[in-house]
Formats: sequence, C-alpha cells, structure tokens
Amino acid sequence: MTKNNNLAKETISFQTEVKQLLHLMIHSLYSNKEIFLRELISNASDACDKLRFESIENSSLLNNKDLSIIITYSKEKGTITISDNGIGLNREEAIENLGTIARSGTKDFFSKLTGDKQKDSNLIGQFGVGFYSAFIVADQVSVISRKFNVEENQAICWESNGEGEFSINYTNKKSSGTDVILHLKADENEFLNGWKIRDIVRRFSNHISLPIKMFKEEWNEEKKEQIITDQLEIINIANALWARNKTDITNEQYIDFYKTTFNDFNDPLAWTHNHVEGNHEYTQLLFIPKKSQFDLWERDHKSNLKLYVKKVFIMDDSDQLLPNFLRFVKGIIDASDLPLNISREILQESRYIKIIKDSSTKRVISLLEDIANNKHEDYLLFWNEFGQILKEGIGEDFNNKLRLSKLLRFASTNSQDNSQKVSLIDYVSRMKENQNDIYYITADSYEAAINSPHIEIFRKKNIEVLLLSDRIDEWMLSYLQDFQEKKLISIAKSDLDLSNFIDEKDKVEQKELIDSSKEFIKNIKEVLSDKVKDVLVSNRLVDSPACIVVGKNDLSPHMIQILKNAGQNPNFTKPILEVNPKHPILEYMKTLGDNEFKEMANIIFDQSLLLAGGQLPDFSEFIKNINHFIVK
Ligand code: ADP
Repeated sequence: MTKNNNLAKETISFQTEVKQLLHLMIHSLYSNKEIFLRELISNASDACDKLRFESIENSSLLNNKDLSIIITYSKEKGTITISDNGIGLNREEAIENLGTIARSGTKDFFSKLTGDKQKDSNLIGQFGVGFYSAFIVADQVSVISRKFNVEENQAICWESNGEGEFSINYTNKKSSGTDVILHLKADENEFLNGWKIRDIVRRFSNHISLPIKMFKEEWNEEKKEQIITDQLEIINIANALWARNKTDITNEQYIDFYKTTFNDFNDPLAWTHNHVEGNHEYTQLLFIPKKSQFDLWERDHKSNLKLYVKKVFIMDDSDQLLPNFLRFVKGIIDASDLPLNISREILQESRYIKIIKDSSTKRVISLLEDIANNKHEDYLLFWNEFGQILKEGIGEDFNNKLRLSKLLRFASTNSQDNSQKVSLIDYVSRMKENQNDIYYITADSYEAAINSPHIEIFRKKNIEVLLLSDRIDEWMLSYLQDFQEKKLISIAKSDLDLSNFIDEKDKVEQKELIDSSKEFIKNIKEVLSDKVKDVLVSNRLVDSPACIVVGKNDLSPHMIQILKNAGQNPNFTKPILEVNPKHPILEYMKTLGDNEFKEMANIIFDQSLLLAGGQLPDFSEFIKNINHFIVK
C-alpha cells in the first residue's frame, strides 16, 4: 500500500488482490448484479449483530436504539444508500477492511485463477465478494461511518471509484453506524426505483432478523408522479422463524410460515426443526406437505428447498440438499459456513453440503417413522400422496434402505380393499409357522393382482400375498430382495417352492396327475412351441385353467409391457405355461380334434398372457378362436 502522508485525507491504493477481484467481479457477476444489495444488507446486518454483542458488556450502547437498516434512493443524485446503526468502522478498520482482502484462502483463490472468464466466474462462487460487489453497479462508492466508541467529528469518509485506489478522510456523523452510498453507473438507473428495490430485498433478505426500512411512496395526483413521503415502513418480514429457538415457536407460527413461504393453501402434515452446532453449523426446517404438487412426478422436478446463509437467501430449488426421492419435502436449510455467493457448481462438490444432505435425509426419515408409528391416519395420507416417490429411495439410497423398507405400505390379500396399508413388519408378524418367504405379485392394477390365477393356492392355504400395482414396483423390487432375512418372492415365477404348504396326500395326488397328463401336456407344448418355453402341470391353480410364469431372472409380461410403453425394446424370453388338467376346459380340450385342440390351446395361452399383464401380438386371432367356441 502506498500512503500519501496528509493526516486528514489520505489516498491509498488497493491491495493487488482487491484490484484483481474488482476487475473479475465487475465482469463476471454482471448478469447477476442485483446481488450487491443482498451483500450490503448482509454487512449492515452483521454490523448490527456486532453492536448487539458489544452491548452485552455495555448495555448503554443500545439505549433508545432500535437496530435497523434503512435504504433510500435519489433519482436526482443517482444514488442508493444503505444505512445501518450498527457498530461502525474507525479509520484503521476502514483502511484495513475496505482496502484489502484479509480472509484466509484468498491466496489460494488467486493462484487458481486461469484468465478464462467462464472458469473464473465459477471460481468466484467460492468466495464472499461482499462489499466490493457495490462496484458492479456503482462507479463511485462513499462509506460514511462512525464507530460506536469514537467522537462525532472522528467519523470517517471512505471513497473510491473502484479502479486503483481509495481515499479516506475524517468527517462528522451524528450517530454511530454506517452509510454506504452508491453512485450508480449511468446505465444502472433501473435500480432507482422503490418497487424494484423492495422486490430485491424481499427476494434475498426477507428473513434477515432486523427490520429493513424504506420511505413510503404515494401517488401524487397533482404532480402525476410517485412521490416519496417522510414516513418509514418496514419492507421485509424480518422473521427468520428457523433461526429462533424451537421452544419459542408455536404450531400456528410454523403453519403460517409454511403457508406464506411455500404458497400452499393447506397446512403442512408435519415438520422437523433442528439447529446443529459443532464443527458444521446449520439449521434445518423441513416440512412434509399434505398434498403433492402437480409436477412432482417429473423426475427432474426441482427440490423445494431454499438455501440461506445466516438468514440471507441464497437460492431456491437447491437439489444438492436432499435426495430426489424426498423431493416432496419443502423447507429451509440455513448453512452458516457457506459464502454468500456460493454457486450451484461449488455446492455440488462441497463436503459440508453433503453432510447437511445426509443429516436432512435422516431427519425426514425419522419424522416419517414418527408419523408411521404414532399417527396412522396421517401416515396413510402421506403414503397415498407420496409413497410412490419414497419407493425410489429403496433403489437410490443404500444406506437408508432398511429404514425406508419399513416405511413401505402395500395392498395385501389380508385387507378388504385396495388401500396400501400393510407394512413388511405387519406381514412378517403374520407369517405362517412353516412360511420362510414374503410373497408378492406385481400387476398393472390392484384388480389384476387380486384376480390373478397365481394367487389361488395362497388363498386356499390362507397365506398372505402383497399386491403390487404401482409402475415403480418392479424396479423397486429389483433392489429389495429381502427384508429381515426373509426373501421377497414373486408368486408368478417358475421357481416358486410350495412344498412346505402342501401335505403328503396332495403331493401324491399331484404326482399322479403329472404322470397321467404326460401325453396331453406334450400335445399342448407342441402346439405352442413358438410361444412358450415349457408347459407344466401347475400346483398353484385352484379355479383357473392356466397361468403364465417366468424364470427367476426373466421379465414378467407386465414388466415387458412397461418397458415397451417406455419406448424400450426389452430382452424377451419365452414364458412357461402352467395348466390345471382337472379344470373343465382342459377336460373338454382332451376330447377335441386336432384343429380345435390347437385353437383351444392358443385361447388358454392368450388369456393367461393377458391376465399376466402382457399384450397379444394378434388380438383378432384370439377373438376368432373364442367366437368359434361360443358359436359351438
Ligand atoms: P465480509 O463481510 O465477507 O467480511 P466484505 O468485503 O463484505 O467481507 O466486508 C469486509 C469487512 O468490512 C467486513 O468484514 C466488516 O468488518 C467491514 N464492513 C463492511 N460493511 C460494514 C458495515 N456496514 N458496518 C461495519 N463494518 C462493515
């Protein structure tokens, strides 16, 4: 720093790094220039916090003083002024704080600069740009400041045009605090507008706990223009609810805050609020809504989380803060260790953000567990609204899979209707003595599942089957192979082992049936050889003539259909047809001649395929075959 040794007024050149930073900022943050207001308000708010802190030792400092920030502007002078009645700066502090960059890590920052504008503007996101952001919109900045413990005539006036140097001089100021006066560049006059300033303040600084004030404006009929009155009004909510102590907040306040902040007519279903201290400080206030938003089903739906840093709004829809399968959650994360102008790119790489994300995920899961255990009705509401989204977590979050699997709810043959309320824990607690596995069936609707022929033996033996009919179920099940050491078994797969449930007498009968049907089965297989891998005598059918099963690792007809509908061309392996030779249709079939036998075999296969959620390649052939027998 070179000093001009005139005692009152000095002209001092900026530290080299400040010059670089100024240059970089003016060029790279230009598209985001309104952030200057947020940065200056944040500094003003810090200054008030510091005075409040001083007043702990010296309570007279706050006598008759309401800490606040006042923003004024003058169209004539082309200025915006941000005033606070906080701690203020003395001469040394102004030179030090507004002329150098003292923060650690800054050297690092400069060593990383490449000269490539694009890359450098990403880099700048890691560092607080703070006070210097004033020069994005101003070509002259004056800071009039009086520290709380200096005389009225020892206040200072700091001035710079943001190029190479600044000047500092003594001046008079009646009360302690700081006025930052921006002389806007000629083409930045859009900011000389009360509506615009209010809008920016509400967007970024609404929840700063201090009141931010402006002079009221009124329409003057005579002058036919908006005039500024001499009455101050508060323009922010000044209520960072999340920063307050939990015990000081009523349920009504939480609900109000939720509704106004997230524009929801409904009350939230539940919320969780935590201040985390220690190495990493942050606050979470997370709400589970009652109703889903219309666009929640889009996989690229943005999150509903707002990121704040020390009550200053940073960004919406920050998808780094919760996993996708919790995208229904709305809330606020206040991460006090981040710089104010953190970029999305930097967020992605931040370990601190990762820690917050993991912790928020666990908080939401705990909240859901609490509702599931203690408020069954509410949990059903939640499940109906968001259950399908939560299911994505089974495949996406390995660490929380067990906890998430306990939160799943299913329709089941144990319930009277299609509502999904059976948990895996309920299921396991009702398992039969000789039952080792959890049985389920997937289909494209509840009706298709409950009427599926595969269920017949389970109904007869009174064994519960989970009925899965959400589109995501097949995908989810590929990640959920067991629960509490019990395998989840599809009852539509060929390797289903029912031996535990079938008594000796039935086993003998089954064997006799297989022996006596050999020829018959061989004939069916011949007819259907290009459609099926095998034809077998079934032990799972009671009332139906036949059903389709697939190999352990093969896609079910239902899944094949889902994939086809999604525009894919899935690998297809031929299924197995299981038949019930004692069924009247099959008994009748045995009496038919070659042609009719063929037709009937095809009818049986086609209807089994339809029941299993598949589609027929040739529907007209199916109808023709059926009509033939109807006429007959
Ligand atoms: P940061 O706020 O990240 O430290 P800034 O560049 O925004 O960086 O500000 C530099 C320093 O200048 C602040 O740390 C503070 O000490 C001082 N300062 C800025 N604005 C004010 C203000 N309104 N009142 C008192 N001190 C201020």
